[in-house]
Amino acid sequence: MLWFEERGSDGSGVGFTNRSGGVSQEPWSSLNLGAHVGDAPDHVTENRARLAAHLGLEPPRVLYMHQVHSATVVHATGPWPDGQPPPEADAMVTDTPDLALVVLVADCVPVVLTSPEGVVGVAHAGRRGMDARVVPAAVDAMRDLGASHVRAVLGPSICPRCYEVPKDLREDVATRHPLTASVTYTGTPALDVAAGVLAQLECIADSRQLPGCTAERDDLYSYRRDGVTGRFAGVARTRRGPA
Ligand SMILES: [Zn+2]
Repeated sequence: MLWFEERGSDGSGVGFTNRSGGVSQEPWSSLNLGAHVGDAPDHVTENRARLAAHLGLEPPRVLYMHQVHSATVVHATGPWPDGQPPPEADAMVTDTPDLALVVLVADCVPVVLTSPEGVVGVAHAGRRGMDARVVPAAVDAMRDLGASHVRAVLGPSICPRCYEVPKDLREDVATRHPLTASVTYTGTPALDVAAGVLAQLECIADSRQLPGCTAERDDLYSYRRDGVTGRFAGVARTRRGPA
C-alpha cells in the first residue's frame, strides 16, 4: 500500500502509495485512488477506505482535491462539507490535527510538505502546475500558517528520459525554467518537470526527490505509458489530536 512512509511519534507522517493492496480490476488494478479515471466508484471508495484505515482516520478526514493543473492552494480546516464536490485546487495546506491531505498522480510530480510546527501540505506539479509555481505557492501558504522550516519530498514521476515533448514546448518552458530542458533516451526533446520543482524550492525548502520513474516502474501508475489507468497518492497526515 504505502511503499514509502515516514511517521512521527505524534502520529504525523508522509507517504506515497503504489498499486498494491486495493480491489480495482485491470487496467486500474489495484489501489486506484482516482475517482475520475473510469474505475468502478465502489472500488475507489473501498480503496480510499483502506488508505484512511492505514492512516488511522475516518474516510471524510482524508481530503482529496479536484485537480486542474492550477496554482490554487486551499487551506483545509476539516472534512469537506457534506454533499459538496472537493474544491478545484492543486495544493492543500493544513495545521488541523487528524487530517490527511492527498495529491493524486500518474506521471506528474507529487509533493508532500512538512514543518516542525505541524503545518503540512501537498501539491500536484505536472508541467503546467510547475510552470504556474504551485509548489512555491503551497510553501507560502504554509508559512502563512506559521511554518518556519519547510521540508519537501518529491515522489516518483515520469523522468525526462521518458517524457518526450514537442521542441517548441521544451523551449517555451525552458525560457522560464531553464533546468527543465532535457532529452529522452533517444535524444528527442523532453522536459524534466521534477528538476523545475527542485529549482523552485532551492531557497525556500529542504528538498528530497525519491528515485523512480513512473513510466518505467510496473508498481506505479503511468498515464503516458498506459493511457487509461489509475492514480497513486502522495499523503501528508497531521498529528493526532487530543483523544
Ligand atoms: Zn523514465
